[in-house]
Amino acid sequence: MFAVSREVSGPLTFDGKHQDRPVKRAKGARNCERRSWSLSLLVGRMQRKRSARKQFASSPAVRRRMQATPRRDTPAEMRVRRALHAMGFRYSVDAKPLAHSRRRADIVFRRARIAVFIDGCFWHGCPQHGTWPRTNADWWRDKIVGNQKRDLDTDRELAEEGWRVFRFWEHQDPLVAARRMAAVLRRLRGY
Ligand SMILES: [Zn+2]
Repeated sequence: MFAVSREVSGPLTFDGKHQDRPVKRAKGARNCERRSWSLSLLVGRMQRKRSARKQFASSPAVRRRMQATPRRDTPAEMRVRRALHAMGFRYSVDAKPLAHSRRRADIVFRRARIAVFIDGCFWHGCPQHGTWPRTNADWWRDKIVGNQKRDLDTDRELAEEGWRVFRFWEHQDPLVAARRMAAVLRRLRGY
């Protein structure tokens, strides 16, 4: 099994200079997050996802959960991002770490070659909080298991390219996750 724990570490390739350095918090700093696609692309993608999901929202409960679970900018992800931003770290959001792969990570420290994922408990089948809907059970199982397989494959793909992958569950304390990442980034920079 590739991922022994939720934290998957590839080889250290960081050169320790000028990379993902914290900067002084500036006015309006919250708006500084780099977006990796244009608004129109984003809207198109969200609409496609929404319509694809609606097809399978077969009960009001499932529909509510699906509507309440966007795949990016989730509350958990936002909290980790805000905490990192407040600590002075800058990163790309929902970005492709590898040019030749379509896989995206929730938070990308490109120069440090670190990809962070905040996995939703439902969509990624959290062992503590994952639920398996009974309606359309086969479809949901395929979907969630498929997500888990893709996660492992993404981890492997990134590790092969010298990236370090960190995964946190959405139920984890966002401050703990952010501090963990801050410690890793600071250690890589050597101070
Ligand atoms: Zn969970």
